[in-house]
Amino acid sequence: MRKLILVKYASEIFLKGQNRGKFERKLKDNIKHVLDGLEYEFVMDMNRWFIYSENLEEAADRIKKVFGILEICIVKEIEADMEEIKEAALEYVKSTESDTFKVEAKRANKAFPMNSMEVNREVGAYILSKDEDIKVDVNSPQCKVNIEIRQKAYVYEKRIKAAGGLPYGMNGNTMLMLSGGIDSPVAGYCMARRGVELNCVYYHSHPYTSERAKEKVKDLAKILSFYTGKVKLYVVPFTDIQMNIIEKCREDELTIIMRRFMMRVACKLAEDNGLQSVTTGESIGQVASQTMEGLVVSDDVSDRPVFRPLVAMDKTDIMDMARQIGTYETSILPYEDCCTIFVPKHPKTKPRLQDIRKSESVLDVDKLVAEAIENVEIYDL
Ligand code: ATP
Ligand code: MG
Repeated sequence: MRKLILVKYASEIFLKGQNRGKFERKLKDNIKHVLDGLEYEFVMDMNRWFIYSENLEEAADRIKKVFGILEICIVKEIEADMEEIKEAALEYVKSTESDTFKVEAKRANKAFPMNSMEVNREVGAYILSKDEDIKVDVNSPQCKVNIEIRQKAYVYEKRIKAAGGLPYGMNGNTMLMLSGGIDSPVAGYCMARRGVELNCVYYHSHPYTSERAKEKVKDLAKILSFYTGKVKLYVVPFTDIQMNIIEKCREDELTIIMRRFMMRVACKLAEDNGLQSVTTGESIGQVASQTMEGLVVSDDVSDRPVFRPLVAMDKTDIMDMARQIGTYETSILPYEDCCTIFVPKHPKTKPRLQDIRKSESVLDVDKLVAEAIENVEIYDL
């Protein structure tokens, strides 16, 4: 008898038709990737995936973070034999100290001589005969005894909610604008969870933003890489661009023009590196630059889709998610970012596209973008 982790993946993967095999292979690779360094065995039983490891808890903790997995269950593996099944079921029910129970058997192995209903009945009767205090409750039992009968049989001990989503790497790629704030790492997580491969860009305003601010962004990219495997971080020197804007443009338009430059650089880097889209952590109405007008004016300079997975989320919900995925504590470290340094006193909240284009015409936009990109630093994290 041994315990295994049963891996249940998203039902969306079943709907992929001819591509299902590809999704499954990717998911398997991603599971193997997170288990790197642990001794484990991948066990297949009639299309179900199980993982065996001496270090089951650690393995479960890692596997539940893999995108595309809906649920993992810790199960006891026994022979597909009624006596063994009954004993394992009884032992499980006892361990939960419940007053009521229900047996839910699934028989995938049609060679097994009893059908699911018969197994339910016989196991239920056995438990009742061994424990005088317990009762059956089919509607809301305190303890559900899940049994799967395949080549072997499995009795569930614990069900653990996993990350959900789709296998990382199966849905194209994006350039995530990653600041040191709370929002953008969460936005990156949301995209990655849907299978989109992440690359990150950070705009660094040396010496106005410190080395520590850059380190913080690297740390955030590293936290994201727990979920995704290695991510590339492009650090773009942004001071020249900002100085030019400050020198030549109206104060109340600084932020929106700066955001257009961020967008241009992200798009150019995406183009140079074969990336299909851009992602930001913006949420509608959150700050002065995130009005509908502001977003429209920044998108004007983008030549590819811009995704804002947090657009309709409240800040408190974003913060909860940041805590859940483990980026919050790093995000709230107090190192300034380039936006907070160059904030106008009264930023325009309803910029007009024509006005902004006109204001910008005094800048040598192409040259500024090209120079920033020439001096980019790249990290593999
Ligand atoms: P965040 O918490 O992600 O920093 P925010 O609420 O502070 O977001 P802004 O500072 O207006 O909002 O930034 C909006 C988005 O622009 C960010 O979510 C991020 O995607 C991008 N961004 C802002 N500053 C930077 C930067 N220095 N480098 C890279 N991307 C940035
Ligand atoms: Mg920010």
